[in-house]
Amino acid sequence: MTEKNITEIISRFKDPVLNKDFGNLNFIKNVQLNDNNIKINLGITNLQDDSLEKLTAELTKAIKSETGFSGDIDIKYTAGILNHNDKRKENVMPGVKNTIAIASGKGGVGKSTIAVNLAAALTMLDVKVGLIDADIYGPSIPIMLGINKRPEVTKIDGKARLLPVIQYGIKLMSIGFLTQGDEAIVWRGPMASSALKQFMSDVSWDELDILLFDMPPGTGDIQLTLSQTIPLTGAVIITTPQDISLSDAKKGHNMFQKVNVPTLGVIENMSYFVNPDNTKEYIFGKGGGAKMSKEYNVNLLGEIPIATKIREYGDAGMPIVISEPDCDISGIYRSISLELIKQININNSTEKPNLEILI
Ligand code: ADP
Repeated sequence: MTEKNITEIISRFKDPVLNKDFGNLNFIKNVQLNDNNIKINLGITNLQDDSLEKLTAELTKAIKSETGFSGDIDIKYTAGILNHNDKRKENVMPGVKNTIAIASGKGGVGKSTIAVNLAAALTMLDVKVGLIDADIYGPSIPIMLGINKRPEVTKIDGKARLLPVIQYGIKLMSIGFLTQGDEAIVWRGPMASSALKQFMSDVSWDELDILLFDMPPGTGDIQLTLSQTIPLTGAVIITTPQDISLSDAKKGHNMFQKVNVPTLGVIENMSYFVNPDNTKEYIFGKGGGAKMSKEYNVNLLGEIPIATKIREYGDAGMPIVISEPDCDISGIYRSISLELIKQININNSTEKPNLEILI
């Protein structure tokens, strides 16, 4: 029996969400055969799938019966993430499997806070994450991640490349790295667009499962530049429950639709406040995000409460997901991350008509 034999057996089994076999999905990350045990690292779409126990039992049984192995079989499941298969992507960032815009209609709804916590929660699930802070109106991510250094420049194959700053396992490039201290820059359209393009072409991102873009609010030049430079896997829209925020969030969704970028989901922020007696208070109204999701047939990825500690940890440079990984709010972020991975994989595994041929 060899590791190859074991891999072939696992290949035939299917990811429960996508109903496609692990071999074709390329989700078998590692198989290690030792004297008394076999260690397997298997990618899976939904790490909280109810059927994982059954899958483990079936895999174990198949390996034992087909190879005669009688030692321990240790199967570790980690997030399996499909590549967004779009050829145009290969010329820009070939090692980056998926690019996702985190967008909002309005400023101040918590988009950047969600981008950093989502990046941190995904990293904690063993997902390789990069983050581009493209919010020209207030690049706040270096502060939220407690970063006070700048990217270094290196030469790769004779070409100058920027190395992203790595914090909490997240690779970051920020438009804030391009300014000095508190210096204010008025980013005019073309300048901001060329900075964003540079973040894609001149940065050594290496291999990433997901690259998140923290976009400026609204539907302006930067959004257009992004969607024209790289075929995005999708967008995630952040809104608060109020009508005014929702109406702008809908405009954001419509803009992405126009440029053929699917909305992978909506996240409602500041959904409720948890009173000391554990009752929920719906300060800004209830269920706006859910209503929008239904109306536009997109997924509601989650609802995040308003809580002082979310802001405090953000100000202190250590997002809540990292500071208090076991608290309820971090649990919500984890569940949003799992749902996002699911939506990415469903989106990437669906056959789409080739638009280039149709045009
Ligand atoms: P945006 O990127 O949409 O402009 P930010 O992420 O910068 O918004 O958030 C604006 C402010 O609101 C920040 O001070 C942030 O700490 C705070 N904030 C965001 N989400 C929450 C929340 N759920 N609870 C409490 N404060 C929040």
